[in-house]
Amino acid sequence: MKVLDDLDVRDKRVLVRVDFNVPLEQGRVADDTRIRAALATIERLRERRARLILVSHLGRPEGRDPALSLRPVADRLAELTGADVTFTTAVVGPEAAALADKLAPGDVLVLENVRYQPGETTNDPALAAALAALADVYVNDAFGAAHRAHASTEAVAHLLPAAAGVLLAHEVDVLEALLSDPARPLVAVIGGAKVSDKIGVLHTFLQRADSVLIGGAMCFPFFAAQGHATGASLCHEEDLEPARQLLAQRGDRLELPVDLVIGDRLGATAEVRQIEGVEVPDEWMGLDIGERTVARYVERISAAGTVFWNGPMGAFELDPFAGGTRAVAEAIAGAACVTVVGGGDSAAALARFGLADQVTHLSTGGGAALELLEGHPLPGVEALRG
Ligand code: ADP
Ligand code: MG
Repeated sequence: MKVLDDLDVRDKRVLVRVDFNVPLEQGRVADDTRIRAALATIERLRERRARLILVSHLGRPEGRDPALSLRPVADRLAELTGADVTFTTAVVGPEAAALADKLAPGDVLVLENVRYQPGETTNDPALAAALAALADVYVNDAFGAAHRAHASTEAVAHLLPAAAGVLLAHEVDVLEALLSDPARPLVAVIGGAKVSDKIGVLHTFLQRADSVLIGGAMCFPFFAAQGHATGASLCHEEDLEPARQLLAQRGDRLELPVDLVIGDRLGATAEVRQIEGVEVPDEWMGLDIGERTVARYVERISAAGTVFWNGPMGAFELDPFAGGTRAVAEAIAGAACVTVVGGGDSAAALARFGLADQVTHLSTGGGAALELLEGHPLPGVEALRG
């Protein structure tokens, strides 16, 4: 994969695919984490006197939905960089081209939401050509969109000299190292809501990790497969067979909770009980891992050489069921080893507990990170290898 430093960018018009898919509230950027994550690449290009043309998607607009304009993002970027930032309501075409041609070295042009163009998600060669026509070289820094073969992430990369931005290259390096030569023991902590969403990543870590600690609603299909009562816990019928197979293949490496926190419903004012064992009574839901499980998992994490975490240990958004996720997050933050966290809700949990800056790597791409770890080539990354 080519990286930024392999490209000659001086005085060049550089089309940079960024992931500015940020949450907006009342027309303002509510969380600028993704904008900040792109700053390393943007600053490096500006230092090298490149002329920057930034392209991103925002949400899933049907046509030109004004609520999903990138204008507020351009405003925030100007505040963060102090650069001369111009926004255009065009995505491609003569108006965008004229503005791109006028850029001085170090200046930034932000194009409108690329998904306003239907050709973006169909990887349309014509849209890719129109994007390529704006620039001399292409840099992809949008790791969060790298698992999609879209015009601005895939097709365009074949039309210009292309390289990975700082963020994308770092994400790929960290995640590939997790698979190729992790410091051992490698401990994977996998939680969240659905086995079927994470079956691929479970397969990966059941092959490569020394232990796989299961939390969240993920445990119930395994418990159901083992014949335990799961009560009203979140447990999808279609997850039972995959769970059964994983247990049969690699049950030795799977660690399941040994006790649970249950509630009579999913709500902040639910009646809450800590139970010994994992038999969930009728009409109760398992909503967090119990104290003895926490102690075991914390011990595993403390002894690890590498930890990968994806998926909360319980319904952490609700205080009565946040304890397991908090304890695991604190153990991961406090561990001296390499710690890598992926997944939107896992990142949100770390942020909620004020621990987001205490892990080695917090991935900006939930879906992309999981697909890479599942062994699927990422179209946006593969296009940079050619
Ligand atoms: P990530 O985004 O980190 O990959 P997921 O999307 O898989 O994580 O899962 C996160 C969601 O799972 C959270 O909203 C959390 O409340 C929910 N969850 C975790 N454990 C349980 C449980 N035992 N019962 C119901 N929901 C749960
Ligand atoms: Mg999620």
